[in-house]
Amino acid sequence: MRPFQYQRARTLDDATRLVSQDSVMAIAGGTNLLDLMKLQVETPGELADVNRIGFGEIEDTPDGGLRIGALATNTETAVHPRVRRDYPLLARAILAGATQQLRNKATTGGNLCQRTRCFYFMNIDQRCNKREPGSGCGALDGVAKLHAVLGASDQCIATYPGDMAVAMSALDAQVSIVSGDGGERSVPVREFHCLPGDTPWRDNVLEQGEIITAVTLPAPVIGRQLYRKVRERSSYAFALVSIAAVVELQHGKFTRADLAFGGLAHKPWHDPRIADALIGQTPSDDLYDTAADLLLEDAQGHGENEFKIPLARRTLHAVLKQAVEEAA
Ligand code: SF4
Repeated sequence: MRPFQYQRARTLDDATRLVSQDSVMAIAGGTNLLDLMKLQVETPGELADVNRIGFGEIEDTPDGGLRIGALATNTETAVHPRVRRDYPLLARAILAGATQQLRNKATTGGNLCQRTRCFYFMNIDQRCNKREPGSGCGALDGVAKLHAVLGASDQCIATYPGDMAVAMSALDAQVSIVSGDGGERSVPVREFHCLPGDTPWRDNVLEQGEIITAVTLPAPVIGRQLYRKVRERSSYAFALVSIAAVVELQHGKFTRADLAFGGLAHKPWHDPRIADALIGQTPSDDLYDTAADLLLEDAQGHGENEFKIPLARRTLHAVLKQAVEEAA
């Protein structure tokens, strides 16, 4: 690890002022950033500790939703009574990620901003356009089992590794962001993460000097909520494919089908055409195939990860079948 300076921000203004400087990075739980610093993938000149600026509350919103402070830990969120009652999909997704010790430290904001676990990104001796723009992408012709089959580019095929944001995408949550000049904005989780395109170093839409303050879930909807994570072992493993689903049926037909997919792309993947194809239709294997065809129409494997394409299809079938059985 390279030497660095440390400052504790006392207020939100403090925090945004500090992170407006090029060499300063915010740290909260540090569960990802400290690993990357030890590997010298991240080499900030200074850390701004934001743990004491507030924003750790989880509170009801006037319209029946739930505002989760950026500094609420993953454990606090997963065990919160309203999350367990109204957004069980989110609790399941969080509990499917990492370990209890990590969830005790990891925060909402940090979890959203976690970086890919691509082997080449995490090894400074390897080529990686995300870490070192223009150096190439080792994964394109290398170890790519965990990599993207949707939305990748010829510059980067990394995946977003988290579970929490996949559930938040299915729930259509909003990310609240403030900047040093006092500006505030709200970004749908579905638009928070970026595809790699020609700027693979950019993971999300946060600008220099901006800080996440909360994620707001809309008022809960009726329907089955599911989170299915397919991985190589039963704990402490990233998703090969995951699906977060909010599904409702009435009179034997789909009336809601909000689905988001993890493990397939550089961001939680949400394709509104899937809901359009399902809503108003009677469940059947042919219908699930139609949904999977839409999801995977532009899917492209890279050697080792080609198995993800049929795996995503089978997992989508399984999730929709389970939702229909549980709704019956
Ligand atoms: Fe780097 Fe992306 Fe290529 Fe991985 S996939 S080596 S993160 S450019």
